[in-house]
Amino acid sequence: MAELFYENDADLALIQSKKVAIIGYGSQGHAHALNLKDSGVDVVVGLRAGSLSWKKAEEAGLAVTDVPSAVAQADVVMMLVPDQFQRHVYKDHVAPNLKDDAALFFAHGFNIRFNYIDPGAGHDVCMVAPKGPGHKVREQYVDGKGIPAIVAVEQDASGQAWELALSYAKAIGATRAGVIKTTFTEETETDLFGEQAVLCGGVSQLVQYGFETLVEAGYQPEIAYFEVLHELKLIVDLMNEGGITKQRWSCSDTAEFGDYVSGPRVIDEHVKENMKGVLADIQDGTFAKRFIADQDNGGQEFKALRAEGESHQIEKVGQELRKNFGWTQADGDYVDGSAAR
Ligand code: NDP
Ligand code: MG
Ligand code: MG
Repeated sequence: MAELFYENDADLALIQSKKVAIIGYGSQGHAHALNLKDSGVDVVVGLRAGSLSWKKAEEAGLAVTDVPSAVAQADVVMMLVPDQFQRHVYKDHVAPNLKDDAALFFAHGFNIRFNYIDPGAGHDVCMVAPKGPGHKVREQYVDGKGIPAIVAVEQDASGQAWELALSYAKAIGATRAGVIKTTFTEETETDLFGEQAVLCGGVSQLVQYGFETLVEAGYQPEIAYFEVLHELKLIVDLMNEGGITKQRWSCSDTAEFGDYVSGPRVIDEHVKENMKGVLADIQDGTFAKRFIADQDNGGQEFKALRAEGESHQIEKVGQELRKNFGWTQADGDYVDGSAAR
């Protein structure tokens, strides 16, 4: 049974007694930095010279400096630059400036699990991984709520690493919703599997195939868009609130019966076999190697795959339709129809 932790299990004073450097000010970085600051923690944001995020962080009232200076003054260093760049940032700017007894924190176990970062034995190595995008981590905190997080300790040099990680989790609002204890290995492997097989990869491919099947059969693309993409949110919201059972309770009996008889026809046992293959590639490091090798090659494969995805007909159709949706909102810096980053 998973071990769960809430507000009363964590001591905020512990993290309040430390200086925390947040490296990176993107999706997670801005949320962690601002939530910590509002929880009374002494925060400094570390960014590279010329960073586009620098001004944003300063305008939000945060202390900002270059990565080496931020690290040099910190008792806790949270690595929140993209996973594929962390090992370079760590080697060039973090490791040479890290205090001997500073704790190293992550929001995802990738670099530790696959040995791209190997911190010295004197450092606590902890993970506080919110189970939601950064914009939600900030939004919920401001609302007096929180996004759940999973927390792990890979290396406990101080003898207090777990208490420190829980205290950090409390300061970003996570213990308001609940924190689950995990390991770097479990978090990394299940996170990669979840996003590849179900949440991102699985759902995207399912939606595209559903759309293609309807359009190839002669139905209007706009109708297909509504049936297989737009309504997905309503279904997922129900699942989020009350599991698959609530989703089935809310749908018509026709939809529910169709779910039982056709779901397993579409997602048959071969899909589960394929999922096992995906998991095996995650566990033995094949996926990590492919991702990092491509990143070292300028992300050629990544960029080509992204361009291909963006050119799918469902993206063009959706972009036109969404222009007239008064109820959808811009999220963060995303501009609809353009993943310009
Ligand atoms: P982002 O892509 O949003 O991070 C961008 C930030 O990193 C910017 O401030 C950028 O600054 C900075 N940055 C990028 N490269 C460098 C560099 N070489 N040196 C210094 N700063 C750099 O990252 P995320 O927030 O998505 O991810 C951070 C971590 O959180 C990852 O480990 C991820 O797996 C984890 N995570 C992310 C979640 C999410 O919702 N996104 C959810 C849970 C965990 P600049 O302006 O200079 O480009
Ligand atoms: Mg992930
Ligand atoms: Mg319908």
